[in-house]
Amino acid sequence: MNPSRQQILHEMGLGPVWKLRAPSVAATATELRAEATHSAAERAPTDDTAVTRVANIAMPMDWDELAATVAACRQCRLCEVRKQAVLGVGDGRADWLFVGEGPGAEEDERGEPFVGQAGQLLDNMLTSIGLQRGRDVYIANAVKCRPPENRTPDPDELAACRPYLAQQIALIQPKLIVAMGRPAAQTLLQTEVKISTARTKVHDYEGIPVIVTYHPAYLLRSPLDKAKAWEDLCFMRRTMRQLKANQ
Ligand code: URA
Ligand code: SF4
Repeated sequence: MNPSRQQILHEMGLGPVWKLRAPSVAATATELRAEATHSAAERAPTDDTAVTRVANIAMPMDWDELAATVAACRQCRLCEVRKQAVLGVGDGRADWLFVGEGPGAEEDERGEPFVGQAGQLLDNMLTSIGLQRGRDVYIANAVKCRPPENRTPDPDELAACRPYLAQQIALIQPKLIVAMGRPAAQTLLQTEVKISTARTKVHDYEGIPVIVTYHPAYLLRSPLDKAKAWEDLCFMRRTMRQLKANQ
């Protein structure tokens, strides 16, 4: 039996608070378009070292080639301690792409992203806006191998792994990308990001709208920000509706 939305909000520790605050973020289609077009010109130039590091990856790839390449990848030091690389999970042509930071211990063990505690919260967040893992949703990470002690991936590790994320996006062609947390936002937008100012706007990754929100693991540590995460979920759902209506 599927849990009700009420149960899910309860699970997130939030029911009544979220309901009170939900409708506050508004954006017109014109605002969305204006925001989606502004950022390409502002991107930082590509890091030369990253280019050399990934020069031997042949693009484009199909899913099988990509999976095999990532499984065998040794482009950064994260390969040294991983049990396995974790490419991603879900619908290969999903409208929604959610991007996290990197695999944790359970993900490294099982080979699937977001299967631990943060993953449970992510699943509940998806359900709260009518989505489900694997159904029109793809879930990936900014780096495919587990950083030791779950530390934040270093900039050179993010840069080394970025072409794989780029390749996933090229294959999926999502309508909307959701960047969860700073590393995901920074690797996608190629600029310094502060979540509190980047959220509630529509950014751009090569013409695809990007919405930035808190990482579920952060929300587990800072439950007071779950109300803002709920606003972000409503904003995403509204943005997707507009994107589909404008097609
Ligand atoms: N946190 C992440 O960023 N990704 C996962 O896959 C699990 C936890
Ligand atoms: Fe390769 Fe990415 Fe793993 Fe680094 S994190 S070894 S770049 S797959």
